[in-house]
Amino acid sequence: MQVYLSCPECVDEQARHEKSSESPDPINTQKRLSPYPIQLTNEVSYEVKCVFGHSSAVFINLFKHEILFEIGVHSILDGYYREAITSFAASLERFYEFASRSIALHHRLPNDEEVKCWKDIASQSERQLGAYIYLHAIHFKKQPKLLSNPQAALRNSSVHKGQIPTRDEAVAFGEEVLSIISETSLKIWQTIPEAAHKVVSNHAEMSVKKIIEAGGVQSNTTNCVDSAVHGKIHDERPLKEHLERTILRHSRNKVDKHKKIIGEFEAKRHT
Ligand SMILES: [Zn+2]
Repeated sequence: MQVYLSCPECVDEQARHEKSSESPDPINTQKRLSPYPIQLTNEVSYEVKCVFGHSSAVFINLFKHEILFEIGVHSILDGYYREAITSFAASLERFYEFASRSIALHHRLPNDEEVKCWKDIASQSERQLGAYIYLHAIHFKKQPKLLSNPQAALRNSSVHKGQIPTRDEAVAFGEEVLSIISETSLKIWQTIPEAAHKVVSNHAEMSVKKIIEAGGVQSNTTNCVDSAVHGKIHDERPLKEHLERTILRHSRNKVDKHKKIIGEFEAKRHT
């Protein structure tokens, strides 16, 4: 899945240019504010290389579970409903990780001990689910909301048996996952924001380290990417509405991408 990010150095340069008494850029000058396509991975920081030769690490405002949820949204838009369910299910698992680790740090488990504990459950989702149920219950004094039995059955048959669901099934599955994530996420950010920030910043630090080791530059800039999870938490926007909002942007990006592929193919044919 692609998102479009701006080059922070160009944004600063554009602001400086607009404030100065310099004459406006001539027509056909390469625009400084052009966004650049970035392929999303599990990271929260991405390298943006612009046409002016800058290279910057830019944060996005999405955490692992939010990125996976958006990949599910784009799978629905592209007509891959089984892949949508797989991504929504992975998003929920990563959300359980975020919630469990936030609660553990809030209850003063030292950071390095927490990392060791997570290593013991990192490759088994059943262990993670067990940890989440109890950590949530201890902290909120309440059993957490989990996937309903019919949705868990749909996930299992899609992920393990190759069942291809319908669009309506994929949307209903995503809607349920979104409601679990947004409800608990809101409670976490409202009650234990410091611990939640610590989990996000631990991950961000590792992400930035990778970019710097690869020769990139650190940036304090964050690009905001619209997401279903933020939309649900802040505006109570259901998944159906997020799909409608995303469809136009997604189609436009696809058209641009295909035009580029056709252009390159034609150019090759004529050489
Ligand atoms: Zn630039």
